[in-house]
Amino acid sequence: MKPLTFQYDALPARVVFGAGTIARLPEEAARLQLHRALIISTAGQRRHAERAEELLGPLAAGVFANAAMHTPGEVTEAAMAQAADLRVDGFIAIGGGSAIGLSKALALRTDLPQIVVPTTYAGSEATPVLGETVANVKHTQRSEKILPETILYDVDLTVGLPVSVSMASGLNSMAHAAEALYAPDRNPLTNLMAEAALNALIDALPRIHARANDLDARTTALWGAWLSGCCLGVATMGLHHKLCHTLGGTFGLPHAQTHAVLLPHALAYNLPFAPDAHRTLIRVFHEPDPAMALAEFTRRLCLPKTLSELGMPETAIDSAADLAVSKPYPNPRPLEREAIRALLARAWGESSPLTQSMKDADA
Ligand code: NAD
Repeated sequence: MKPLTFQYDALPARVVFGAGTIARLPEEAARLQLHRALIISTAGQRRHAERAEELLGPLAAGVFANAAMHTPGEVTEAAMAQAADLRVDGFIAIGGGSAIGLSKALALRTDLPQIVVPTTYAGSEATPVLGETVANVKHTQRSEKILPETILYDVDLTVGLPVSVSMASGLNSMAHAAEALYAPDRNPLTNLMAEAALNALIDALPRIHARANDLDARTTALWGAWLSGCCLGVATMGLHHKLCHTLGGTFGLPHAQTHAVLLPHALAYNLPFAPDAHRTLIRVFHEPDPAMALAEFTRRLCLPKTLSELGMPETAIDSAADLAVSKPYPNPRPLEREAIRALLARAWGESSPLTQSMKDADA
């Protein structure tokens, strides 16, 4: 074995995983001694929240079904007011990263416990990280108060996730694993989890694309999402996540779809500077050029191909590049403003990333 040095701060987590596990919500709430829980969802997922309310009976204090993407400050204020009125003693979020983000924002402000029931593959449930948007800028912070106490995964709840949303969300999840592979604080365990997550999602997403209610594929995808979320929880993300947060928070682009469009481009930028990650990605894609293989994978899943398709104005490319380099953060390749601008311009208008093999061919 090569000399090995690493530091790893594991995060506490209780995970209940399976099909039909929503029935265990009352016992999980009782375990955290919740007597007046506020149930949180987006408007679209209100029926799931109401089902949870029914299951919880007297342990539920009410439902707040106005969670929104990128955790806008004004929504958090409205939910805080409802939580105070109802004198709640904890939060139960059911839905994707938007519902879970709001629950985290409330837990940060109140230090009350949370149970989260993820119904997408965003991975937020496993992290002590919260991104909040105030005055059009998304700020990200870490705190132990943000990390949910219990994650309850119920595969059955993911079956209704529309195929297009499932594919984009799956790519969001793959992005956590891919960037963990070159994170400065990666370690042997995050490497294992990241590779397993990528293998799971590469296997599951095409099967869900072909048959939305394939329970076996849905199980594999949710397992992969948990592993990716675990990577995101402990490993510091690089350029790809920075760009997605900038584009989501400042230009209102949809979170998961932005990840899907940008990931091949971000990998093409970084992989020549991240040989270990490069080797792992060659192994998971069984292709010599992982950035190109990923672009082809997203094409097969009918994901959006360009930032222009997602509604980003071309005029925003320069300010997005400026924001991406405005503060330093770890990334395998130095943050080069002009190269990042070129990456964004390519992602805006063309689907294929500028990979090393294409650069070599041009040279
Ligand atoms: P989302 O929560 O907005 O969900 C996407 C859409 O899918 C919504 O319309 C939702 O109502 C719908 N939906 C969710 N579950 C469904 C189901 N089972 N059936 C049918 N429809 C369903 O989006 P997301 O991509 O899950 O999360 C994005 C948000 O999460 C962003 O704000 C992002 O910043 C945040 N996020 C945070 C972290 C973190 O660690 N802090 C990680 C990932 C994402």
